[in-house]
Amino acid sequence: MNEKKSFEVARETLKQLTARKLAPTPVNYKSIYNEIAGIPSVEAFPARELKEIAHALPAKTPGQQKQRGLLEFAIDRMQWDGIKAALVAYGGFTPVTSADSPPSGPAPLSSNHTTSGAPALTSEFLSQIGKLIEYAQPALGNDDQHFSEQTTNLLKSMRSPGADVTTVKMMLVNYSHRLSFVAEDQAEIKSVLLKLLHLVFENIGDLSPEEQWLRGQMDALMIAAQPPLSLRRLDDVERRLKDVIVKQKDAKEKALQAQNEMRQMLASFIDRLSQMTESTGSFQEKLEDSARQIEQAKSLSEIAPVLKDVVGATRTMALNSQTARDELRTMRVKAETTEAEIAKLHQELDRVSVQARHDPLTGALNRKGLEEALEREISTVRRKDTPLCTALLDIDNFKTINDTLGHTTGDQALKHLATVARECMRPQDTLARFGGEEFVILLPDTPLDKGIEAMTRLQRELTKRFFLTGTEKLLITFSAGVAQLAADEAGMEAIRRADQAMYLAKRSGKNRVLGA
Ligand code: GH3
Ligand code: MG
Ligand code: MG
Repeated sequence: MNEKKSFEVARETLKQLTARKLAPTPVNYKSIYNEIAGIPSVEAFPARELKEIAHALPAKTPGQQKQRGLLEFAIDRMQWDGIKAALVAYGGFTPVTSADSPPSGPAPLSSNHTTSGAPALTSEFLSQIGKLIEYAQPALGNDDQHFSEQTTNLLKSMRSPGADVTTVKMMLVNYSHRLSFVAEDQAEIKSVLLKLLHLVFENIGDLSPEEQWLRGQMDALMIAAQPPLSLRRLDDVERRLKDVIVKQKDAKEKALQAQNEMRQMLASFIDRLSQMTESTGSFQEKLEDSARQIEQAKSLSEIAPVLKDVVGATRTMALNSQTARDELRTMRVKAETTEAEIAKLHQELDRVSVQARHDPLTGALNRKGLEEALEREISTVRRKDTPLCTALLDIDNFKTINDTLGHTTGDQALKHLATVARECMRPQDTLARFGGEEFVILLPDTPLDKGIEAMTRLQRELTKRFFLTGTEKLLITFSAGVAQLAADEAGMEAIRRADQAMYLAKRSGKNRVLGA
């Protein structure tokens, strides 16, 4: 630091401002003051603009959340190194080698007005911001044409070899200002779309209130489409919706087929009836005609052929009636079979849809649903290399609840536990009924210690939220085991380890959680 006293520096600064005919702005004053005092000219740190950019970055995955946190931390401490590292990691780029790395500590964005000969950090930094803007672009949509143009121009300026940093900075400020509106719009659009989706679900459900199986699917869909939505949950919604559509189509086709069969049978029945009426009618005519001939007959020889005709007609009539009766009987049997088939089909649909993946009592996934969910989670684990915990809980002394309060109250207690578990777990966690009073919870992105914490939290929640049976408050406790899926371990094997830990928890006094 220069040895001149600060008031002398200040006086000299004012003199220089006048001598150089510079406007007395704070920027000019600071620049000349630094020059006289021998302080290196460091451009103001653009914390606000950087913060705005950081806030606009999506933080959906734990990795993104972590890097965004690190970015904000570095901005708060004006650490360009940290900012760069967080941006590089956020964008999934490989970090530059130490030879390329700029010196640590605050560094100027640019020495003065142009980047020609600017420090390596500036171009590297601009290039990272450029990539960041480019990658964030799809999430912001292209409804706002002005914003799209602004983005294109900004990227062009940032990437041109002789980029003027002051201009780029100005453009960045304008960009982040507009970005805040665009991002807000996108969030609003998302929430409105979600509301529409719910409306559609409700309407599909209302359109077919008699279809029990469809109701079950619709309820599951409504739950799956609750915010906060993640790609994984949207995936789930899509899968379920496809399921509903396929099943609905299938049921409609089968019902139509059955209806057609009934219609055909009715048509041939009516046909048969009219044939019978016809033949009865002609028989009647034949009789009347024969009666007339008999009345007018003068001799027995004239009657004989008439009688022969009558006998023939009667025989034909009797034969026709017999055939008609037989056909009608066959048709009735077939109609009854078809009707029974339709009823069976509906029952089957109800059973298949509700029980396909869900336990009807608690609404939790059943064993089949759990197996599917486990498969999905494990493929994510293998792809993203994230930890997955499986927890198995078994209600303590559940038999006593059944024995003292009855089986129905026992059922209500199971429902209560499932409700509390669902509300206290994160949306990405999965609850499944594993057996009578045993549940499995899948906790993605969770290492063992956090998995144990989550189950302990559920235990605490159950002590706060009593199960009410009539006016009596009942405390439900459980014992649980938690196992983190090991590399190359099968999902059911991890659940088996969790089961062993649960068993140990029972042995050591119940109402506790143990890690496997
Ligand atoms: P512990 O604390 O050692 O686990 O004892 P417990 O009584 O909870 O366990 P046990 O396995 O002896 O009894 C479980 C009981 O759960 C037996 C069975 O009748 C009952 N149960 C199983 N499924 C249902 C169900 O769907 N509803 C009801 N109400 N009871 C069920
Ligand atoms: Mg049990
Ligand atoms: Mg039990």
